[in-house]
Order: sequence, then structure tokens, then C-alpha cells
Amino acid sequence: MADRDGLIWLDGEMVPWREAKMHVLTHTLHYGMGVFEGVRAYQTHKGAAIFRLEEHTDRLFNSAHILGMRIPWDRETLNQVQRDVVRENKLESAYLRPMCFYGPEGMGLRADNLDVHCMVAAWSWGAYLGEDNMRNGIRIKVSSFTRHHVNITMCRAKANGNYMNSMMALQEALRDGYDEALLLDASGYVMEGSGENVFIVRDGVLYTPDLTSALDGITRRTVMTLCDEIGLQVVEKRITRDEVYIADEAFFTGTAAEVTPIREVDGRAIGAGTRGPITERLQSLYFDQVHGRRDQHPEWLSLV
Ligand code: PMP
Repeated sequence: MADRDGLIWLDGEMVPWREAKMHVLTHTLHYGMGVFEGVRAYQTHKGAAIFRLEEHTDRLFNSAHILGMRIPWDRETLNQVQRDVVRENKLESAYLRPMCFYGPEGMGLRADNLDVHCMVAAWSWGAYLGEDNMRNGIRIKVSSFTRHHVNITMCRAKANGNYMNSMMALQEALRDGYDEALLLDASGYVMEGSGENVFIVRDGVLYTPDLTSALDGITRRTVMTLCDEIGLQVVEKRITRDEVYIADEAFFTGTAAEVTPIREVDGRAIGAGTRGPITERLQSLYFDQVHGRRDQHPEWLSLV
């Protein structure tokens, strides 16, 4: 990843990819206190466009606010920088990674003598969970790792340190031969994937967990809006593990994962054991939306 051509924006400058480095005493590297985003740009008939850029940047600022971190740039600048990074790297579509982190100015947990540094990188990234899986669905397993209790880490924040839990869950699932993990919350209710929100479908109605210890996903919000527009009901509620087992359909949503069908949970087929019809419809609407093929929500696409 570090050894490639291109430019990364770091603290106000476009830096050659290989030279975008920080010191080993970088505070966030030691304690995980930082915030980041995962954003995608898609090819549209008007050129590359970043999907829901403003909402992602708002979430970045909210994450920093939750952690008590002051980002030394305003929203407009970081929005412009994200457009610049896609354009300057000549990307037609991209995954973007903005991050704000504490530097190597000190090491104490007090963190009162630290500068906040910001970076934005972008690169080409295809289907996060694999092209075939987008058609056929993935096999997942309920994790032995529990999602954060709401008063242990702040789940509304997309914070670096929160992802240790995600990585342990994903690595366990992959080691056991599954494609992704499904994490339960501290009370045993279904919460989310390692980097995705989850939906189930039963009798034509969609259900998704309340946002307690799950991230307020922008893809989740997009799918809920799409459902509203095509007359599908979505209910946010506590969901049990066995409700997922007997769902007609299930899918994950995320910027990286987009809309990924789930065909099996803990060795039990979900519905017909393949991508369900509502999932397929939402997946295709989502791709139409992000590629600018729908008339609705032109404000969701920021041309670079
Ligand atoms: N939950 C977690 C833990 C995530 O990391 C992500 C990815 N950002 C999501 C849900 C989905 O969020 P979004 O749709 O905004 O990418």
C-alpha cells in the first residue's frame, strides 16, 4: 500500500505517496485516539463524483467532537481536498480515506500538547467483499467478540481504536472459513458487521437494529431513503440472532461493502440461500444512485 505512485494530502500539502510518512512516536499509533472516514467516488456520466461527501465530512467532524479533538481545518477545505485528491490522482472511481490523528509532539495520555494532523488518500478499490459475492451473497458467522458497550467506546464516532474489535471479529470469521462476522451487542442483540450495518427482510418489511452501538452508516441512511421512495417499510428495532436465522433475506450495507447480500448465517441458509429479490432491487437502485443514473438526490454527488 505504501509503495505506489500518486499523491496524498497531508497537513495542507500534496505529498508524493511514498513520502507521506509520520514519526514512530505518532500518538494515535500508540493509543488509537483518532478519527477517520471511508468514502467512495464513482464514475458518472458527468465524470468522477464523490458520494455523500458532505455527510461523510460531517460525520468526521462529529467523531472528532465526540473524542474532544479539534480538527485544524474547516469542512469546506476538507471537502475540497477530497475532490482534489481524486482529481490529482486521475481516478475515475476511488475509495477515499481521510483521517485526523494526534502527532508525535508528546506521549502522555493527557494529550494536551499535541497537534492534530490530517491526511486524505485515495485509490482504486473494487467490491470489498468480492464481485461474485455481490451476486450470490456471503456466508457469515456470529462473532465470539461482542460489539462495544455504549459506554466503553463511543460508537457514534468512527474512531481508530474502535476497529480493534472489528478486526478481531473479522479475522476470527475468516479463519473459520466465513466471509464476514456479525457482531452482537453487550446484551446479545444483533448489532452490525465488522465494517457494515445489517438489514433483514421478513414478509416484505425491512428491519435494522437501532443505532446504539452500531455506527450511523451513511449507506444505511441511503438504503432507508431508497426504501421510502419505492414504498418499502423499514423498522428500526432490537433484533435477535434467531430472527436473522428465519429472515427471508439479509444484507450488509457500507461504503466499502455497498449492498452485499448475506446467504448464510451460522450454517443456516437465509431464505432461498442466495441473493433475495428485495436485496437485488435495493442493490441495483443503490448502484444507479451512486453512478448518477437516478434523477433523485443530485446533491448526493459531488463532482471532483
Ligand atoms: N459499521 C461500521 C463499524 C463501519 O466501519 C462502517 C463503515 N464505515 C459501517 C457500519 C457502514 O457505514 P457507512 O455506510 O457510512 O460506510
